[in-house]
Amino acid sequence: MTTTPERTARRAFVLELHEGDRTMAGLLGGKGAGLAEMSRLGLPVPPGFIVTTEACRAWLSGAGEPEGLWDQIEAAMLDLEHRSGLRFGDPSAPLLVSVRSGARFSMPGMMETVLDVGMTDAVAATLVARGEARFAWDSYRRLVQMYGRTVLGINGSLFDAQLTELRRATGAATDAELDAAALERLTAGFRRILVEHTGGDLPQDPRDQLRRAVIAVFASWNGERARLYRAHEGIPDDLGTAVNVVQMVFGNRGEHSGSGVCFTRDPVSGAPGVFGDYLPDAQGEDVVSGSRSPMDLSELGRRDPALHEELSTHLRTLEQHYRDLCDVEFTVERGRLWILQTRLGKRSPAAAFRIAVELVDEGVIDLDEALTRVDGTQLQTLLHPTFTTVEGLTPLAHGLAASPGAAYGQLVFDAATAMEWTALGRAVVLARPETSPDDFGGLLAARAVITSRGGLTSHAAVVARGLGRTCVTGVEGLLVDPVARVATLPGGVTLPEGTVVSVDGTAGEVYAGQRDIEPSAVSTAISQGTGRGTETSDRTVRAVLTLLAHADLRGHLGVMANADTPEEARMAKRFGAEGIGLCRTEHMLLGERRVLVERLVTDENRAGALAEIEALALTEFTSLLETMEGLPVVVRLLDPPMHEFLPDLVELSVTAAVAAERGTLDVMLERRLATTRRWHESNPMLGLRGVRLLTVLPQIIDAQVRALAEATLALRARGLDVRPELMVPLVADVAELTAARERMEGILADVARAHGTTLHLPIGVMVELPRAALTAAALAEHADFFSFGTNDLTQTSWGMSRDDAEANFLAAYREAGIIATDPFKTIDEAGVGALVAMAARDGRQARPGLGLGACGEHAGDPASIGFFARTGVDYLSCSPPRVPVVRLEAGRQAVLLAGTRSTSDTR
Ligand code: PEP
Ligand code: MG
Repeated sequence: MTTTPERTARRAFVLELHEGDRTMAGLLGGKGAGLAEMSRLGLPVPPGFIVTTEACRAWLSGAGEPEGLWDQIEAAMLDLEHRSGLRFGDPSAPLLVSVRSGARFSMPGMMETVLDVGMTDAVAATLVARGEARFAWDSYRRLVQMYGRTVLGINGSLFDAQLTELRRATGAATDAELDAAALERLTAGFRRILVEHTGGDLPQDPRDQLRRAVIAVFASWNGERARLYRAHEGIPDDLGTAVNVVQMVFGNRGEHSGSGVCFTRDPVSGAPGVFGDYLPDAQGEDVVSGSRSPMDLSELGRRDPALHEELSTHLRTLEQHYRDLCDVEFTVERGRLWILQTRLGKRSPAAAFRIAVELVDEGVIDLDEALTRVDGTQLQTLLHPTFTTVEGLTPLAHGLAASPGAAYGQLVFDAATAMEWTALGRAVVLARPETSPDDFGGLLAARAVITSRGGLTSHAAVVARGLGRTCVTGVEGLLVDPVARVATLPGGVTLPEGTVVSVDGTAGEVYAGQRDIEPSAVSTAISQGTGRGTETSDRTVRAVLTLLAHADLRGHLGVMANADTPEEARMAKRFGAEGIGLCRTEHMLLGERRVLVERLVTDENRAGALAEIEALALTEFTSLLETMEGLPVVVRLLDPPMHEFLPDLVELSVTAAVAAERGTLDVMLERRLATTRRWHESNPMLGLRGVRLLTVLPQIIDAQVRALAEATLALRARGLDVRPELMVPLVADVAELTAARERMEGILADVARAHGTTLHLPIGVMVELPRAALTAAALAEHADFFSFGTNDLTQTSWGMSRDDAEANFLAAYREAGIIATDPFKTIDEAGVGALVAMAARDGRQARPGLGLGACGEHAGDPASIGFFARTGVDYLSCSPPRVPVVRLEAGRQAVLLAGTRSTSDTR
């Protein structure tokens, strides 16, 4: 039946099921659109109509009941009476309806529903007279209970308490065992609650019940849990809910009736075949509430094969039609099957991959579509080892799930012990109040890291994610005392050094003792290069490999890794990285080696210190380049502020003061203190960093460039195809870049000359300061490539230090609704993203063919990759464990982008 424009205009607030379809979720809500679509497909959906979101929005605007709404509902009720052959409020042929919420986006259990609307004393009496007393009173008490709670706002626990008391008094184990007389008493008791709390009874005019139920469902859009849910899920507040008014069908009409919830495939494993629960003699709410244990659908198949077959046929129809996993609610009323609801089924990450690929195998969708059915976040969860499930285990402490995975070990409280114990073959968990670059060795050595302070992008979190270490930050109430070597939990439980704990980085929890761990089969398969897309026994593994291979075919973005050591480089390669996009050279000079920098600045045997730095760099660059033979390795000049290489000023001042007091202060200590003081900065992150070192301590940079040139030439002399590139950090002005470039090219030429050859390496610039982005055209004249350092670009655009913001106020910002997402995790497209896009455009205009990459944390964030793909960067560089995630997302984004382009082309 077609809908004329006049009819739609006249009835904008109400649509009958056959007037809608699946594309109308905005107006009809997801549930309404699903009902309409099923009704079009000829599935057995009870007749009904939908009060649209438009009506809800009109009501929410505060103007009262929208004009004409009730007339339209009345007309639709007449239609419904006609279709059902029953009449609303007529005891001889009573029509009862359900009044259910249903917004555009699924908000499960967040809004209200009133069932059995239309039940009155007269209707109940007729049903009793017809011998359906139990059914009559069960339906009636449900209406009074839901009406009381939802329409009148009475505390639901008052009803629950009466029900519990009645079960106790009658010895009924479940509601299903309550007989008609008990349910009649319960109905009367529930009605007394209404009178006591509102002064009025349940209206006996069914139209009055309906009108007030519809308004109560509208109002539930702004209920507290609905608002909280929307804020959490990012659902706009102004959409409103539709209200589905549908003829009641009853699963509580004896043993040939019942209700069930099912999926067209297993939503946990993705295995084919219908999957679900069925509860005889029950309404849908009884299945969901879990008050009685339902039976498996296969059991229903044994009891009633014909019914099971009919249900399976409808499920097949729905899956074929929606071309995806569907979730279905159904009711059987005296042997007759009714489908009450369908929607796309929520699924586990493993099931998402398996279902997508098996739908391809079955010829339902193609690989491009399958790729859009999964995402990088789901893959990320499949890459980490997990604890085997143990029921009833309670964690010792909770914190933030900073880096996923599962690990156990003995607690240690400083980096040195972590390294020492690991060297002895022990598994350790490093616990710190927070971590600093000094703890790097400990982070590397430990299986897991926990900190009492810090957020999801604190130093510990970022480094742990980069290394693929399990990490929980911000552990509530944990006190770590590295001096006394003990940690204390809020309840006073103490954990001395050596205590074994298990850390669940995926859930953000810490457990006592050692829990069993299962390695990730997906991660093993990817890193062993089992051959992309080959047959393996594990369906999920096969699905991931298939989609990853397809993503590689589709993706335009290169995927590189941020790796500093040969070990990280190997991991990156195993995961499919096409090179190293960022080698942070500072790790070569931290830990014990930082005294070399101190010697350099104190002028104490400067030449010796420089020679050592160069020798170290030569060894490290050689093994890194060798590991990555045939692939690019972007080496960044030393970047972090000087204070990270020098002693702590406060500690040193105290030591000196104590020594002076005791008369033991010597010239060495005095000199050390003076140097530390001279180099001390109030805001080191905005101080002597990156390219700025070139004017103050150029020797250190010379040593790095010379070492890279020597390593390259020596390896090339051995016939190896090594491809190093140089990158200059923290440039704000083109003059800094030209000075750095001139100096580096001079050194490359000198070294090459000494070897009797020439050497030209690509030289790029990091765009990580707003001024660099603003002057991108000038920088591009002197750079072979840009790499967007979005960590610093975010810090400097927002004027926030990441660690301070995370520790002190970012969570409060999120709670107050000032920011929706953490800009240090997911790219802030409006601000930082605008700078990136502008620099990319200006840079490419000034120098066509300019290489563009991104290497901040955002380059490995699944939610940011779409932005980079749209901006036209050539490659993303992320931590090695994230390489498969970025490969997948890059392919997915390419398919999505091609989709939007082809849709806009046809407009
Ligand atoms: C950046 O700033 O984004 C970057 C990659 O450099 P780092 O994180 O080392 O400062
Ligand atoms: Mg940086």
